[in-house]
Amino acid sequence: MDDNWDSKLLRDTYLEIDLDRLAMNVDVIRRHVGEHVDLCAVIKANGYGMGAVDIAPTLIQNGATYLAVANLPEAMELRKRNSSWPIWVMGHTPDRYLKVAIENDITLTVFTLSQAETIQEIARLTGKIQPIQIKVDTGFNRLGFKITEMDIKSISSIFELANIEVVGVFSHLALASYDEDTKQLELLLGLKAKLELDGAKETVKYHVCDSISAISYPDFRLNMVRVGAALFGAKSYRYPDFPIETIAKFKTRISHLKNIEPGEGVSYDYKWRASRNSVVATLPFGYADGYPRNMTGQGEVVIEGRRFPIIGVICMDQCMVDVTELKGAHVGQEVTIFGSDAISIDELSQKAGTNKNEILSRLMQRVPRVYMKGGSIDHIRNDLL
Ligand SMILES: *Cc1c(COP(=O)(O)O)cnc(C)c1O
Repeated sequence: MDDNWDSKLLRDTYLEIDLDRLAMNVDVIRRHVGEHVDLCAVIKANGYGMGAVDIAPTLIQNGATYLAVANLPEAMELRKRNSSWPIWVMGHTPDRYLKVAIENDITLTVFTLSQAETIQEIARLTGKIQPIQIKVDTGFNRLGFKITEMDIKSISSIFELANIEVVGVFSHLALASYDEDTKQLELLLGLKAKLELDGAKETVKYHVCDSISAISYPDFRLNMVRVGAALFGAKSYRYPDFPIETIAKFKTRISHLKNIEPGEGVSYDYKWRASRNSVVATLPFGYADGYPRNMTGQGEVVIEGRRFPIIGVICMDQCMVDVTELKGAHVGQEVTIFGSDAISIDELSQKAGTNKNEILSRLMQRVPRVYMKGGSIDHIRNDLL
């Protein structure tokens, strides 16, 4: 790595993100769902740790029609970067922040008539037509209008508001079982039929699919899908052979090496003790970088294509690895913690007792992100500098 890039890293632990691979995943997903289905790219939680503003251009260039986030600050981060990206907040926006959202052309999610009326009033005063997506609760019991006669009336009245454009009506699947998901879909389709009878425009997008359902339920896609995890190559047991690949590799370098004798302990509480003459490598990453502390006793890393066990308790900023079997171990040697060609995020998340999204979204700000394109570094983000 040349000095110029190195000055943006200033540490040996970083997340390497392959933008070409991201573009390929988008392409694979778009082809799979078909050309009549819009792809809304879900990049909440800093793009599942991938860096929302850094991956957004690749997503838009490759045909994503919407960038979806969970809350308004996430939307504003994207808006600051680009004035024309279509950005949508999928979660609740408290009334006192609506004005900021409207002024910044952020599409809002609405699930009460009273909030729609508040938006109508702000939009009227600023002379805008505010795009919104109406959230409908078909069973998840998180957010949304229920499909009762009263709520359907409220939804119909929202369609009538002069300074509001309803661009979508959507729901979210619990993925409890195919049958129960189908019941949720049918509720949304029933609502769609009613709204269209009432004169709702055909340009309104109805959508219910996340990654898993977009990939595995062909009949659920309607005219838009909201895909997050699959963009980044997260495989599900529900689509094990779908040809997407992980775009991120978590890497570091050996910071220290030492020889220890049988009986010597390593790390807090000496939970690990050497049973032979051992070579111990120290690595400069720990749980405060986002690596799960409960990988203590079961974590591994990859050096020169082989696995080596993490030994002793994982510390906040460092951990130790038994490299006795590694010939020619040296300080500065490259180590892969997880990623495409090494230990998969799937394996790590299973061992850590969590899911892939949690592993990725908890990678901390102090881990620099290195973006690769065409085989070389495109740019580096280090929010601390
Ligand atoms: C996060 C989220 C998604 C995307 O889910 P993935 O499983 O990552 O594809 C879709 N819709 C809503 C409402 C979400 O919150």
